[in-house]
Amino acid sequence: MAKLYFRHGTVSSAKTLNLLAVAHNYRSQGKLVVLIKPALDDRFGADVIRSRVGIEQPADMKVLADSHIDRKEFDGVSCILVDEAQFCSAAVIDQLRAISVDLNIPVICYGLRADFRTNLFEGSQRLFELADSIEEVKTTCAFCNRKAITNLKHVGGRATLAGPSVELGAEEKYFPACYACYKEQHAMAGVQQAA
Ligand SMILES: [Zn+2]
Repeated sequence: MAKLYFRHGTVSSAKTLNLLAVAHNYRSQGKLVVLIKPALDDRFGADVIRSRVGIEQPADMKVLADSHIDRKEFDGVSCILVDEAQFCSAAVIDQLRAISVDLNIPVICYGLRADFRTNLFEGSQRLFELADSIEEVKTTCAFCNRKAITNLKHVGGRATLAGPSVELGAEEKYFPACYACYKEQHAMAGVQQAA
């Protein structure tokens, strides 16, 4: 049976670049891969998986929360790669888990661990529950040199805890932050934190 992988990291940790590199390696060996993304993420165009460094590949499949994934799409496929997996529903993650076992195809999911309020996303929670392998894609805090573990949201240059956890507009900006800087940024903005 093939494994289900969850490779999680903060914003700007090069998760998508990592995904595209894995896809390139398989394809350069003449192997088939399928690139999947949740349908709600249309920041860079609906049908493209694009890294912040500018590299992109077309998404082969887009999934909605209630999608039933057609297994015929995976005939002869060596690896399934999922971008922005935090936005997948638990039901979609369950299907990917079953596919890795039943079709013996590794499924590698890349995504955020938690939202800007430090709460798990639905897809991330299910991946922590079900993945064979959980790996951290590391990056440095934008404000110091410690490892980032949170996604700090700024609007108008100030930290905020307001707004929906899934927001793909242009006004807000997200930074990778260690927990100390995450707390400090909210304190400087006068934001009350629950924790
Ligand atoms: Zn820091």
